[in-house]
Amino acid sequence: MRVMRTARRMGIRTVAVYSEADRQAPHVQFADEAALVGPPSSALSYLRGDKIIEIAKEFDVDGIHPGYGFLSENAAFAQAVTQAGITFIGPSPHSIEVMGSKLAAKDAVRKFNIPMVPGTENAVASIGEAGAISRRIGYPVLIKASAGGGGKGMRIVESEEDLQEQMERAISEATSAFGDGSVFIEKYIASPRHIEIQVLADAHGHTVHLFERECSIQRRHQKVVEESPSSILTPEIRAAMGADAVKVAQACNYTGAGTVEFLLDEHLNYYFLEMNTRLQVEHPVTEMITGIDLVEQQIRIARGEELPFKQQELSFKGHAIELRVYAEDPFDNFMPSIGKLKTYRPPTGKGIRVDDGYREGMDIPIYYDPMISKLIAYGRDRREAIERLLEAIAAYDIAGVATTLPFGKFVMEHEAFASGKFDTQFVKKYFTPDAAGGGDRKEGEAVALLALQLFLESKKALKEPQVAHSDWVLR
Ligand code: ADP
Repeated sequence: MRVMRTARRMGIRTVAVYSEADRQAPHVQFADEAALVGPPSSALSYLRGDKIIEIAKEFDVDGIHPGYGFLSENAAFAQAVTQAGITFIGPSPHSIEVMGSKLAAKDAVRKFNIPMVPGTENAVASIGEAGAISRRIGYPVLIKASAGGGGKGMRIVESEEDLQEQMERAISEATSAFGDGSVFIEKYIASPRHIEIQVLADAHGHTVHLFERECSIQRRHQKVVEESPSSILTPEIRAAMGADAVKVAQACNYTGAGTVEFLLDEHLNYYFLEMNTRLQVEHPVTEMITGIDLVEQQIRIARGEELPFKQQELSFKGHAIELRVYAEDPFDNFMPSIGKLKTYRPPTGKGIRVDDGYREGMDIPIYYDPMISKLIAYGRDRREAIERLLEAIAAYDIAGVATTLPFGKFVMEHEAFASGKFDTQFVKKYFTPDAAGGGDRKEGEAVALLALQLFLESKKALKEPQVAHSDWVLR
């Protein structure tokens, strides 16, 4: 929906693909044409690059936008699209491949003097080697899957005794999730902030950055709240990180929109983490403070156009915050909450943007990431953005599934968030169901259960013969 909106504005006709689970999805209706790609399971539908290319040919499509999930960072798919004579709206297969492996990415940027988290340069094969490295960099360390993504395949090791077990687990997790068991070791930065830089590069040698996004509010190493600008960066650090992000992009001859991720420690030292070679979920916050439509730029770059601005011409204004509205229960460990959207009315209002793909009455399918929408608020300053996001959370009417909306409210109202003094440990440090009012909900549930039990008992008593009313039965 997000991509097609821009395409429509640019006068480009669109063809959507959909799985059997998504027949009723708004994107199917929104597109000019739509084609069924396969059964619900993503392995049989949205990950079937060959089928998607077949459909593209059938509809005489001249460009494919891969969105930000599924095949969006798949070099083989980008290659196959190009070979079929269709434009892939994204970077070259080479750039995707280099940055798709965290180890290859570090290798590519090493010669540019970009600061990196201390750790291994290559995959670690033996426990002996892992032990020696961990002792050298100092515990705690983090074992990471080179092919990892989405916060998966990461293990924190506090001390040497846990190393062997965690290594084995990380390797098996990486093998089953990514088909590649290579793991490496990094120093675990205790309380970092996740700050990433948006870049744009055309095919004529121009690369610019569009400032940062702060994405430190995470659960399971995955982002839930993102904002721009970050409340902690000084203009100097912003400029230095931006310049380094441009170098990272140039290191792999990048074209299109991409994101360079960094960790920032408590002394404001930053370290390169990885590069995402696609549009990010959280791209709207950048769009709102810069006024630049990133999808439009992606399409223009893919057409071979030059970037219409230089670094010095870019600036930002105001503040934007995004909350990812997931069908997850924040009061039950953020477990997916599957069900029907019995009520679904997104908020509207000044400075409010909702990017969604659901309508009232639809089921949240079990097959995909359970993200319902992204709620974005813009304000003249951070305080106004927070206030607007809070109003929009209150006005968002969703029933039928649990969502991360109450979590968003908790974050916006929390002193640590309001003051800007927070890091990736925010959820662990502050969020408990009780603190967020989930205790009230649990209490409510207990009261309702008790009432139900009393009701059923009295009904039973009415139906049963008098003898059942003797004291010892009721007791
Ligand atoms: P993925 O590709 O799975 O998203 P990333 O390397 O981007 O993995 O890291 C995701 C998150 O994991 C980061 O935002 C951060 O919270 C945490 N993380 C990653 N590396 C480190 C590290 N060396 N020290 C502390 N936290 C880390």
